[in-house]
Amino acid sequence: MTTPLIELRGVRQTYGAFTALDRLHLSLPDTAATLAIAGESGSGKTTLARIMLGFIKPSEGQVLYRGKDIATMTRTERFDFGREVQPIFQDPFNVFNPFYRVDHVLTTPLRKFGLASGADDARAKIEDALSRVGLRPKDTLGRFPHELSGGQRQRIMVARAVLLRPRLIVADEPVSMVDASLRATILDEIRDLNRDLGIAFVYITHDLTTAFQLCDDIVVLYQGRVAEAGAVEHVIGAPQHPYSQLLVSSIPLPDLSRRWGDDDMQADPAQAARTSAGCRFAPRCPQVMDRCWSADPTMTRPLPHRMLACHLDASAALQGNDVATVFSGQARPKAASASGQQGTKA
Ligand code: SF4
Repeated sequence: MTTPLIELRGVRQTYGAFTALDRLHLSLPDTAATLAIAGESGSGKTTLARIMLGFIKPSEGQVLYRGKDIATMTRTERFDFGREVQPIFQDPFNVFNPFYRVDHVLTTPLRKFGLASGADDARAKIEDALSRVGLRPKDTLGRFPHELSGGQRQRIMVARAVLLRPRLIVADEPVSMVDASLRATILDEIRDLNRDLGIAFVYITHDLTTAFQLCDDIVVLYQGRVAEAGAVEHVIGAPQHPYSQLLVSSIPLPDLSRRWGDDDMQADPAQAARTSAGCRFAPRCPQVMDRCWSADPTMTRPLPHRMLACHLDASAALQGNDVATVFSGQARPKAASASGQQGTKA
């Protein structure tokens, strides 16, 4: 088996008494994979993104990039990691300095990483990156951030990431602040970058619809733990975990602006008031059983590309590192879309 692109081993992140992530094992194959990390607010998905990017060191566990623990990388390895793993954030406006023209966010990384042989080469690379994300260089360069729309600013941030020819982009809710009409277009452009340039994507989202549109595989997090994971057409098309089932049943069609939890996710008030020493989802679970309140469910794999943590599944318990074989990392045909068309991945 080839070395994964990025691997989390037993990652735990605590803030005082609060556990944001718990015993997380995750492995992304080095095959230009696209992985969605999905969950509601408080699920730990943004913490996970920041740990993957090396912005925070986990309280416990290891993050390995191409087999190397990022906590013990040499200065040179860390420099390469900083180029090869790029973030895209939710709010692009915060990244721009309002006093600089937008060119600044594009020329600075080229200079920092020594990726252009001169001014002409830098200009050619910038124009190519802008064109790849659907921006016309002559309408974009020389402008100030406030002169561009939110969608244009976010596309510039995607272009900035692409300029560095990264192996992996970790995008945290990249289209949640973009006009709904532009979301699908920007996600299609990201998907094209994945296919044309072989860049892997980890897409952090609260939105299963766009997760299906963009990604091959998905991890559904609930309160810092994996509820279900596997190929998107299985997990979203036929969810097995009661939490995933509730999420899928509340997919806002056709209103993309409606968030999970607005109504369908409300629990029986008497049950919701209980606390669970076992499954964290027990207070909200419509299929809760007596043992769920006291026993934590272990991870099982009912299907080759499916893994879940629920007492309803009787398969044998997995070891943490078995997660590595859940994600196929195989791209679906381009025709697959959020409308519900299924890919051909097994
Ligand atoms: Fe529901 Fe029990 Fe499964 Fe938790 S373990 S999701 S409470 S059935």
